[in-house]
Amino acid sequence: MSVISNNDDNLITVSKFGGTSVADHQAMLRCAHIIKNDPTNRVVVVSASSGVTNYLVRLSQANVSVDEQKQLIDNIKEIQFKILQELKDSKALETKILTLIDELTAYAQAQSLNHSARIADAILSFGEQMSSVIFAQVLQSIGVNGHAFDVRQIMKTNSLYGQAVVDIEQLADCAEKILKKKLTDQVIVTQGFIGQNEAGYTTTLGRGGSDYSAALIAEALNASSLAIWTDVVGIFTTDPRITDQARAIKEISFGEAAEMATFGAKILHPATLIPAMRKNIPVFVGSSKEPEKGGTRIQKTVESKPTYRSISLRKEQTLVTVKSPAMLHASGFLAKVFAVLAKHELSVDLITTSEISVAMTFDNPTGSTQALLNSTVVDELEQLCEVSVENGLSLVAVVGNSIHKTNGVGTSIFDALSGINVRMICQGASEHNLCFLVNEAQANETVEKLHNTLFA
Ligand code: ADP
Ligand code: ASP
Ligand code: MG
Repeated sequence: MSVISNNDDNLITVSKFGGTSVADHQAMLRCAHIIKNDPTNRVVVVSASSGVTNYLVRLSQANVSVDEQKQLIDNIKEIQFKILQELKDSKALETKILTLIDELTAYAQAQSLNHSARIADAILSFGEQMSSVIFAQVLQSIGVNGHAFDVRQIMKTNSLYGQAVVDIEQLADCAEKILKKKLTDQVIVTQGFIGQNEAGYTTTLGRGGSDYSAALIAEALNASSLAIWTDVVGIFTTDPRITDQARAIKEISFGEAAEMATFGAKILHPATLIPAMRKNIPVFVGSSKEPEKGGTRIQKTVESKPTYRSISLRKEQTLVTVKSPAMLHASGFLAKVFAVLAKHELSVDLITTSEISVAMTFDNPTGSTQALLNSTVVDELEQLCEVSVENGLSLVAVVGNSIHKTNGVGTSIFDALSGINVRMICQGASEHNLCFLVNEAQANETVEKLHNTLFA
């Protein structure tokens, strides 16, 4: 049954399929053929079937009524069982899924009695647990020796539930000892997004984290390539959902793609390229629906280095301005401000300073369980200085090459934005980007206008 030829022994492609790619049986089958068609595909990392994690997020929250709990679990069950109905010999798999659903129900009940971040992560992990066992069987249905593998055996993390940090050395060690030997005759199907802490509890790596899981596994296995299969035919000049003028990019450097991801291009989780860059593993991004259309290749060096490559947009940003006359000619003020932020595990994105004030932005994604700028943090900062907090902002990043030393970049960008109130501008820290804040209500219009000018 194996599809692996001995000639390809040293080549390992880690392929990740996102939620829409494993949404239903037909989608899973397309992905299974992608795996079958390239014998270097040895490891598959899957997301939860589309929609499942959103239901799980709701289920993991406090104050979910018994009726809503039942409804959410029924919705999830329906998505998974629709796939099972299309599979032959699925009795054993059905039993597995029902066991997982029972476990999930028990966690949901426990959560409604006594809410905890630990149980929330346990609940969030069920989407990937289910999609991975189902996808392994879909592979088998077309003659590929697919086997589900519990990633928690190798993806060891700290205990920061919702945003757990992976122990990369332990992952490399475990991948070598536990995973590698399986690859000689099996295609391993494993879960993105989830891990396990030292106490043995399940953790998650943050929304959209399956891309990052796949990149970490590729790094740990010294893979020859990483393929991210999604619902668009590669990385575009901006989110194709914002403008139909967006076009696919054939080739992009690690540095540019990392900036795009960091500044909100949802196509890749922000941390995805870090492991790939450490091991110089080329990354391919393509559509599992239309694999024949090719996609984007992300690698260390690329032939063309245009000034403007793409525009990223990140919504739900918070701008905090701290102001104190004590800052004037004084040292140590900023250190105190950052000590408060560090204590609350808040990470600052953009920062600009004036004589007596500092403006900083914070990411605030919906559904995130990460530390947020709450009133406790503001109270502590107010012990040091005046604090103002503004929400409802979006961060726009123009990504490209030599942005910091190309004449006319500022003029081209800001001329395109007449009528738009630009709140904060940051440029200079990276050769790859210039970014600024606008009001959320004008965010899409800003990107469209900029795209029309820079990518005409
Ligand atoms: P998956 O479930 O496969 O991980 P995501 O929804 O997380 O997929 O990411 C794919 C989506 O990212 C696309 O449907 C697209 O709307 C969005 N996106 C944002 N920016 C870009 C971009 N620059 N190029 C392509 N897609 C983008
Ligand atoms: N299923 C998780 C999410 O929806 C992880 C992922 O899809 O990458 O966020
Ligand atoms: Mg994603």
